[in-house]
Amino acid sequence: MDFNDSPEEAAYRDQVRAWLNENAPKPRATRPDRNTDLMAEGKAWQAKKASAGYAQITWPKEWGGGGGTQIQSVIFGQEEAKFGIAYPFFSIGLGMCVPTVMAFADEETKKRFVGPALRGEEIWCQLFSEPAGGSDVAGLRTRAVKEGDEWVINGQKVWTTGAHYCDFGILLTRTNPDAPKHKGLTMFWIDMHDPAVEVRPIHQMSGQSEFNEVYFTNLRVKDSQRLGAVDDGWKVALVTLMNERLAVGGSSGPNYREIMELARTVMDGDEPALKNDAFREKLADWYVQAEGLKLTRFRTMTALSRGETPGPESSIGKIISANQLQDLSHQAMDLEDQYGIISDSKMAPMEAAFQQSAMWAPGLRIAGGTDEILKNIIAERVLGLPGDIRVDKDLPFKDAPTGR
Ligand SMILES: Cc1cc2nc3c(=O)[nH]c(=O)nc-3n(C[C@H](O)[C@H](O)[C@H](O)COP(=O)(O)OP(=O)(O)OC[C@H]3O[C@@H](n4cnc5c(N)ncnc54)[C@H](O)[C@@H]3O)c2cc1C
Repeated sequence: MDFNDSPEEAAYRDQVRAWLNENAPKPRATRPDRNTDLMAEGKAWQAKKASAGYAQITWPKEWGGGGGTQIQSVIFGQEEAKFGIAYPFFSIGLGMCVPTVMAFADEETKKRFVGPALRGEEIWCQLFSEPAGGSDVAGLRTRAVKEGDEWVINGQKVWTTGAHYCDFGILLTRTNPDAPKHKGLTMFWIDMHDPAVEVRPIHQMSGQSEFNEVYFTNLRVKDSQRLGAVDDGWKVALVTLMNERLAVGGSSGPNYREIMELARTVMDGDEPALKNDAFREKLADWYVQAEGLKLTRFRTMTALSRGETPGPESSIGKIISANQLQDLSHQAMDLEDQYGIISDSKMAPMEAAFQQSAMWAPGLRIAGGTDEILKNIIAERVLGLPGDIRVDKDLPFKDAPTGR
């Protein structure tokens, strides 16, 4: 493991810092105009990064990217995070959907879509999960049937992040129910503004609606919108999912330092809560976990720095950080006593950061692979334990038991 930047990496970090100092928007919390339209601001920032080659650092220059390395991309992300810049709209499109389009679409389609996505002008979503296909996404039922040069699509997706503001999406469908579940899928790109696509936002306990149900009723797409071969959509989906796994980084949200600050100011009887032995024990656990995560991230960084692809052990990071975020947020709400139930950022301590993260953490434990699925990955691919039992793997999809 190597803890230091190489001379080239250090030089790149300096260059990035100088550019960010010059160009980065001020953190929202410290600005009087913090209620400005986040989407408009995000799009402007994306366009600025694109013009400087920082929008997608690893993409080839001919597609508007930076022509750089994965480690440079991580360095930029680290430095950008220090400026408190967080626009959530582009990561799924640029990190997962558009790379899939770049890998499987024809030249004309790539020319049409890559530039506008990179500049933040058009936003993409990932339409994979369904009520019957989440962890086991190959169990999905949205049906695409060929009619002449078109496909007619009917079905439903769920948990589609950003579908309510997205312009395009990549959609995984079932085209051959007679084949085993992984072998009868086909991927398409679709226009989210088509009237045959109905987006219904899901109301979350935080009061926000970040994801959606999406219904397709006789949606017609051209065969030229197909990504990859007919019935070979699993291969295409794996490219999308591999890009998801490559996304390096911990969870956003408060950490052990912030709860320590809170415990200095909140009283437990006659003393600050920080003096409480039981709380100090918890704090020590979170600190140890945070150090372990830091070292795991260094391991990933070292692999990237050597031009290697990080292994399945990066799954450990998400399990630990998501669980810690949930645990720490609940503890903070307990410390805040009656203020703990107030989620109004104007009234609750620390602008309700812990209340917000308590509501977000359960989602983090599910998105991009649940705790159990990530543990299966670690068990099978890191520890070499026997594989999960997959009874329906080779059955024709139409004969797989559904429980209904
Ligand atoms: C914040 C958020 C954003 C999301 N964004 C998107 C998006 O943009 N696009 C998209 O397509 N999807 C999205 N998803 C959906 C996400 O991919 C699924 O929720 C996830 O894959 C889990 O699937 P599921 O919800 O159907 O749960 P299920 O797969 O039904 O799991 C239910 C429970 O069973 C457990 N389980 C399942 N299989 C196994 C097994 N083999 N061994 C042990 N335990 C098992 C799970 O761990 C879980 O506890 C998002 C989800 C969240 C929370």
